[in-house]
This record gives sequence, C-alpha cells and structure tokens, in this order.
Amino acid sequence: MFQINENNNSKYVCLFASCLITKGKNRALLSDTQRGTFELIPNDMVTFLENTKHLPLGSIFTMYGASNKEILESYLDFLLRDEYIFLTDEVTKEQFPPLKKQWKSPHIISNAIIDIASYHETSNYYSDVIRQLDTLRCQALQIRSYTVLTIDEITHLVSTITNTCIESIELYTSYSEHLTPQILNTLLYEHTKVATVILHGAPQTNDLEVVKGLSTIHYTEETLASEQCCGIISKKYFNPNKDVFMESQFHNTCLNRKIAVDKNGFIKNCPSMRNHYGHCSKHTLEEVVQQEKFKVLGNITKDQISVCNTCEFRHVCTDCRAYVEDPSDIYSKPLKCGYNPATNTWEEWSENPLKQKAIAHYDLNQLIKA
Ligand code: SF4
Repeated sequence: MFQINENNNSKYVCLFASCLITKGKNRALLSDTQRGTFELIPNDMVTFLENTKHLPLGSIFTMYGASNKEILESYLDFLLRDEYIFLTDEVTKEQFPPLKKQWKSPHIISNAIIDIASYHETSNYYSDVIRQLDTLRCQALQIRSYTVLTIDEITHLVSTITNTCIESIELYTSYSEHLTPQILNTLLYEHTKVATVILHGAPQTNDLEVVKGLSTIHYTEETLASEQCCGIISKKYFNPNKDVFMESQFHNTCLNRKIAVDKNGFIKNCPSMRNHYGHCSKHTLEEVVQQEKFKVLGNITKDQISVCNTCEFRHVCTDCRAYVEDPSDIYSKPLKCGYNPATNTWEEWSENPLKQKAIAHYDLNQLIKA
C-alpha cells in the first residue's frame, strides 16, 4: 500500500505517455494504448493527475488536506501497481513529455469495403477497383459476400490483391460445408494477406487459428443478410490503440479515409449509406476521394456528436453515421448504441422507445425481429 513519507514527498508523478485519458460526464477512461487495455477511473483521479503535473507529492497532499490523505494514497497505489505512472524528480520529469495530439497517415484510403451480392456481377469491375485501391495506397480490405462463394471464387478474389500494397484482407462468405477447414487452411497458407475468413450463418460459432497470431477462420451463427447489419456499437469493438485515439481527435474513425463499393457497384463512404458518388463502371475511386462532399463525414469527430461528446469511451469507440438517432441531424448519436453516458448504463438499443421512429425510417424492423 502506498504511503506518503519523507522519501517520496518531493517526488513528481509522471503518467506514462502511452496512457491516455478521456474524461466523461461522470467518470473517465484510462486507455493503455501500448498494452491495448482500458480501465474506468473516477473523474476526481483525473483532476488529481492534472494537479500532480506541476507540484511535488508533498504539496499535493497538503493542498488536498488530511481528510483526503487515504483516498490520494489509494489512487497512487492503484496507478503505481498497474504501471500507469512512475515517480520521479523535478528535473527528470521534463524528459517525459506527454504525447502530442497529432495524426498523420500515408494512406489516401486506409480501409475499403467491397460488398458482393452476386460474384459474377462484382467480377465485372473487381480487378479494376483493386487496381484503383492500390493507387490510393489502401492498407486493409474487407470483402463481404452475402451469399456463398466457392473456393475458386475466393481464390480469384484474394489472388488479385497479391501484388498490391493492400496488406490484409478480411473475407466474409455465407457458410457452406464445401468450404472445409482443410480447404480454407490451404488458402490461408497460400495467401498470407488473408487475415480472417468469416463464415456467417454457420451451424455453430467457433474460431480456428490457422497461423498463430496471423490468420483465423471464424464461424458465426449470425447471418450477414445485408449492409443493414452494420453499425452496432459494442464494448467488444472498442479499440484502445494510439493511432485510433489520435485519429479520433481530428476525424471520424469509422469514415475517415474509408471507401466502399456496395453490392450494386456504387461508390460510397460506407455500404450502409443511401448516398452514393456514382457507379464504379463510370467513375473512378480516385475522382470520388477528391470531392469535398466525400470528405465531410470523415471529418466529424466524436467531440462534435451529441451525447458521444460526454462519453468516456468516445476515443476508443467506433462510430456510425449511416444509422443515427435523428436521421435529420448528422451530428446525432449512433442509433445502434445502447450506452448512456449520463447514467453509465447499457441497454438493448432496439428496445428504446425513443429510437423507434429512426428504426422505422431506416426500415430496420425486419432485421431486429430476425
Ligand atoms: S455514446 Fe457514443 S461514444 Fe459512447 S459508446 Fe455510444 S457511440 Fe460510443
């Protein structure tokens, strides 16, 4: 247990630079971006940490008074034990400045989604889209087929990417007993850019790790019926990563530098959006990404979104601008989020009576019942 004494009362508290704090309405989130973990802490602990930037511990304890000694010692005990802070002297602390809030990326497009309803229709433009994504220095690709792909079709899709700068592929296909683990294993060994194959609508949920830490076959009972399945906000998608944290200070992490070609070949910010920028047989991705209107959604930060701007999870959370609580207000909270930062409680979003109008507007009733 930490105790203030003559050995440490001249010390300063230094928060490790990789530990980043987001203050919410009632509590804060301490994200350890190096370990990829996060922890909820009281807002009072954040104020305490802010005060410790400029004063040694002895002065801090005097400032808070004897009645708060125990609580301050418990804060320090927790922060030291879990290695969020270290104690140092006045001169050395200057050598550990906090991380600058900045975000840069070499990718004109970092992530792309290509949706497939009919492999034969998509194959008319697929190779050309991949060539354009390569020009845009796209890093990661998600291919989502709502129907079953054969192994020959999958092999063609992933082979096209081989000599491009796309580093990783996540591929969704409907479950088929013909896509056996042996067949998929061979595919993943031969095409090392394929990080995950997800078989949706499978008889049971299961994960098979093919190459440790590199590639996985994921079976899920959930069915990817359409792009309407997208946009769910859940703790399991939170990402306490430095790059995401920094990007979220300036951009929308769901849509910034992202592009999609929907199942009908239309170029969009996201396949779930109604607006499109023309068909990929008539327009290039390059010309679309130059358009100012294409960039607008990617620049909406969580600090500009109502409710989210008071949420402690806002810099690790995903977002969704395709389904929002008030369809007439692009700055309203994601519809499919059940978290309330005012009460710190989660509820099933689809059962909230205040969301029913938006659910009907987006025609999501069928999906929810399914
Ligand atoms: S309120 Fe906003 S920031 Fe918080 S969990 Fe929901 S979508 Fe994410």
